[in-house]
Amino acid sequence: MADRDLTSKRSHLLNESVIREMTRLATTHKAVNLAQGFPDFGAPENIQAHARDAVTRGINQYTITWGSRRLREAIAKKAAWFNRIQVDPETMITVGCGSTECMMAALMAVVDPGDEVIVFEPFYENYGPDSILCGATPRFVQLSPPEWSIDFEQVERAFNAKTRALVLNTPHNPTGKVFTREELTRLAEMAVRHDVVVITDEIYEHILFDGREHLSIATLPGMANRTITIGGPSKTFSVTGWRIGYCLASPALTLAIRKVHDFLTVCAPAPLQDAAAAALDEAESYYPRLHLEYTARREKLGHILEEAGLSCRKPEGAYYYLADISSFGFRDDVEFSRFLVTEVGVAVVPGSSFWMPPGGSRWIRFCFCKTDATLDAAATRLGALKDKASQYLATAGRAAAS
Ligand code: GLN
Repeated sequence: MADRDLTSKRSHLLNESVIREMTRLATTHKAVNLAQGFPDFGAPENIQAHARDAVTRGINQYTITWGSRRLREAIAKKAAWFNRIQVDPETMITVGCGSTECMMAALMAVVDPGDEVIVFEPFYENYGPDSILCGATPRFVQLSPPEWSIDFEQVERAFNAKTRALVLNTPHNPTGKVFTREELTRLAEMAVRHDVVVITDEIYEHILFDGREHLSIATLPGMANRTITIGGPSKTFSVTGWRIGYCLASPALTLAIRKVHDFLTVCAPAPLQDAAAAALDEAESYYPRLHLEYTARREKLGHILEEAGLSCRKPEGAYYYLADISSFGFRDDVEFSRFLVTEVGVAVVPGSSFWMPPGGSRWIRFCFCKTDATLDAAATRLGALKDKASQYLATAGRAAAS
């Protein structure tokens, strides 16, 4: 009997995450990993102590499915002063396993099979598969370089009777764009007019540069009851492995999100919820330091990339540079990234991970949530980039671009 395919059609629509694959390749080739966006430095010491303490105090069983009361109260306090979003911790917060699960739970709570979801392209690679897992069709609207500006006519054309949600991400991964008040106001007006939900991933809300301030679209007119704001401590406190995130939403949306979340994961790690609450409660003096440290890292990597002949625009927020590699004469971003990890010893994410095919082939993404030592090691290796690229292309029988 011929072997029957035991896998679902849905699973065939997904590919392995390139971001996470690049981390594995970095390990294999002993490359400096500037691919997957996780810090290679520790969380602040007080936060580590809170996590140890929570386990010792016996906070080791499930919490209430939508999050411990202590964490929800800490999130509500932070949302009020930082995001200017007023949320009742009893009815408007769902804590989940990282913003990744929160995005999935949010989409499943508002989108049915056959519906459409508007997503800006380039996009953080999970949003496409997330929509597919809901049985929905993502409809992509391009952001245009160099400023990653929005063509509002294209956004308008993307709406139709099937549109249920628009996914936003500000500060934006991978471009570093911070959506302006004017842009968010126009998008809010469209969301209201077309009666759709905005799901906004604001995980990089504390990593902004050059005096920019974070603006949550939930605070704009008409948006309070149609916005799901996603955040979490992962990037802010360098705890991406803790898997804690949250959704802020109206009580009606929250009821739906909580049901999906409960059956997906029951609850986020209990002791780490407690430590995350302590982190939020003690963070006010931490944010300015975070800002200074990330500004220094942004300058450092920007300088390294410039020296290596990689042309980039300075990110306005988040912790990534997108570098344009079109002048190097490689076939595409995938060939360049493979060459970079195997020959130069630096791992990056090929741009095509953030675009639908055939997009993104001019770009590669570097992250700078790394120690000075890691960035220095990358600088040394990238110092040999031009020579190694010429050698590689010559061996392949192709001329390096001048
Ligand atoms: N958001 C990070 C990135 O873009 C990490 C993604 C992940 O692997 N969860 O690299």
